[in-house]
Amino acid sequence: MIQALNQSISLLPRTAPRTFHIFHKLGITTFFELLNYFPLRHEDYSTIIRITDLDNIIYAQQKVTIKAIVRTCENIYTRRRFTIQKAKVYDSSGEIEVAWFNQPYLREILKPGTIVSLAGGIKSFKGTLSFQAEEFEILKGLSDETVHSGRIVPIYPQTRGLSTKTIREKIYYVLFMYGDDIQDILPVPLLKNLKMIEEQKAYAQIHFPSNKNGLEAARNRLSFDELFIIQLSSTLIRQEWKKDVIGNAFKLKPYEKLLKTFEKSLPFSLTKAQKRCVSEIINDLSSSTPMNRLLQGDVGSGKTVVSAFGAFLAFLNGYKTLFMAPTEILAQQHYASVQKVFENLKKNLRPHTVLITSNKKVSKNELDKASIIIGTHALISGKNSFDNIGYVVVDEQHKFGVIQRAKLKEQGINPHLLSMTATPIPRTAMLTLYGELDVSIIDELPQGRLKIKTYCVLPSKRQDAYNWITKEVKHNKAQVFIVCPLIEESSSESMQNVKAVKAEFERLSKEIFIDLKLGLLHGRMKSNEKDTVISDFAKGKIDILVSTPVVEVGIDIPNATIMMIEAAQRFGMAQLHQLRGRVGRSDKQSYCLLFTEQNAENIRTRLEMFSKVYDGFKLAEYDLKHRGAGNIFGTQQHGIDRLNIASLSDTQLIRQAQKTVKTFLESSYALKDFPFLEERIMKYKIDHISRD
Ligand code: ADP
Ligand code: MG
Repeated sequence: MIQALNQSISLLPRTAPRTFHIFHKLGITTFFELLNYFPLRHEDYSTIIRITDLDNIIYAQQKVTIKAIVRTCENIYTRRRFTIQKAKVYDSSGEIEVAWFNQPYLREILKPGTIVSLAGGIKSFKGTLSFQAEEFEILKGLSDETVHSGRIVPIYPQTRGLSTKTIREKIYYVLFMYGDDIQDILPVPLLKNLKMIEEQKAYAQIHFPSNKNGLEAARNRLSFDELFIIQLSSTLIRQEWKKDVIGNAFKLKPYEKLLKTFEKSLPFSLTKAQKRCVSEIINDLSSSTPMNRLLQGDVGSGKTVVSAFGAFLAFLNGYKTLFMAPTEILAQQHYASVQKVFENLKKNLRPHTVLITSNKKVSKNELDKASIIIGTHALISGKNSFDNIGYVVVDEQHKFGVIQRAKLKEQGINPHLLSMTATPIPRTAMLTLYGELDVSIIDELPQGRLKIKTYCVLPSKRQDAYNWITKEVKHNKAQVFIVCPLIEESSSESMQNVKAVKAEFERLSKEIFIDLKLGLLHGRMKSNEKDTVISDFAKGKIDILVSTPVVEVGIDIPNATIMMIEAAQRFGMAQLHQLRGRVGRSDKQSYCLLFTEQNAENIRTRLEMFSKVYDGFKLAEYDLKHRGAGNIFGTQQHGIDRLNIASLSDTQLIRQAQKTVKTFLESSYALKDFPFLEERIMKYKIDHISRD
């Protein structure tokens, strides 16, 4: 039973405390979680040959395994403070030299007479062959089973202090001891239909495959499992929500005429796509089921005004709206733009809007008067309690649909919920990962926007680019963003990124743009400092804003027309697109300059492609194909799940999983009859709802 696998990894024998510590940091606490730490790739050491036959493989560059006995092993100290370990090993066919670097302790391990299995390749130094051992393991006898050699060997993502060898050893142990306890999550008939291998076999093969086909089959099965669990869970979550509805409490009266009045009051006419999304939202709000909708639209497509229609309707019905942004900077901006959206309405039709930030508390009295309350996600972290919330808008945090609803429910609130995102998640992926959401898409930009001219700048042209920027600022009053490299990716601002941006700010101020006004912006600044910088930039008091990538989402400074991105190769296409979307927000021509010091062909190709493509979806698809699902959207700040093994580009497998979910739900299976499946679903839900 799976219980054996739910045991704590602290039961692993001969394991250093530090290893446990690192496993915990990787989120691995049980045997089963350890088994779900999948290899990055494999190395094929399965060919076992005799020493005399090594001559033949030198040209083939093949990796092999030899089993031999140590004759001698010695340390050689070189002048440049590193050591070489040279061993002579032999088998019945011959003898060969084996070399390592900087592992002096090997001499203690590889005593004369020791039987070793060695995996690696062969090299010739000045005519003498030498075995380059990538793996070695001590054997008691020549016919002992091997873990690190003599087979296709898994290579794991390494963390400092935890080697792939240690991980391999531990996983091998768990598979050996408890492999038989793995039981399938799928009912037998469904599994038969799928023609996939059993889960038990899949776990064994993904780590220690017998051959390429075995590995492929394992990858397929486990990817399927992952997609199946996600889809089944989100379908179940969705069903639960629909069940939760208390009467018609949130059925809003649609007030068509007043909605029209609002639309007419806007300084522009809505695009067709905006109109469609507005009516989808209004439709949901006037039905008795709480809305759970994702509004997806490229940067600049005008999501704010679309979401405001819902807020307006809630207001007309006497309900409040909570509006949550990922950062205080953005909350501030939303506050400004939401107020602007309503500014042409008569006073009695204008919802009273308040902003709550960490240094701007609002009195209970004012909260009571407010119809729209804007802040960060901290708004609902417990301290505040709100009455009469009918509609909640969440910007740029996809998973907030799930988490926020759970939190609000703790407070007894079950409102209509709109999540907004500019991240172009392909539709199949969306349906897969966020099956619990309905989706509205704004697929056109407001008229009259010019294409942002995008260029890759060669290192040799850096100075020219600086000169051009200076000229644009001086003669055309251009305003500029300079985004510093992403050194570490993290949800909050990392110290590394902050250091880098500070250094660059200094350099640019003192050496490059000496007589221009520069501002500095990063996530670790106090929020009133940030406010000052942004509002100075918005007012044109700052020419160039040097910032970290953390400020990528949502900033709206229409007068800024140049976006310069350092180390552009480090960003995913979707992120670059987000950054580029910070300019081109008015009818002026805008520019995006991509800097990279790297000249590799594939980097150039990728950036060149970015400079020609403006469609966020196409760019996301590109990321999906070339960087793999784990990396696509490239950032935790968007709150998108990373897939463990499945790939979002595998549409066929996604469809297969979808079909199987449907069959499962339509058949008379009860979840409780499949404890392994039930357990996985529970885990999925917990991981989702508790994450913040
Ligand atoms: P995003 O979808 O990136 O959040 P915003 O809601 O910030 O976009 O809108 C970007 C800008 O476009 C804002 O200045 C907004 O007033 C403007 N805008 C929105 N809709 C239209 C439209 N239909 N026509 C012209 N401008 C629009
Ligand atoms: Mg926005």
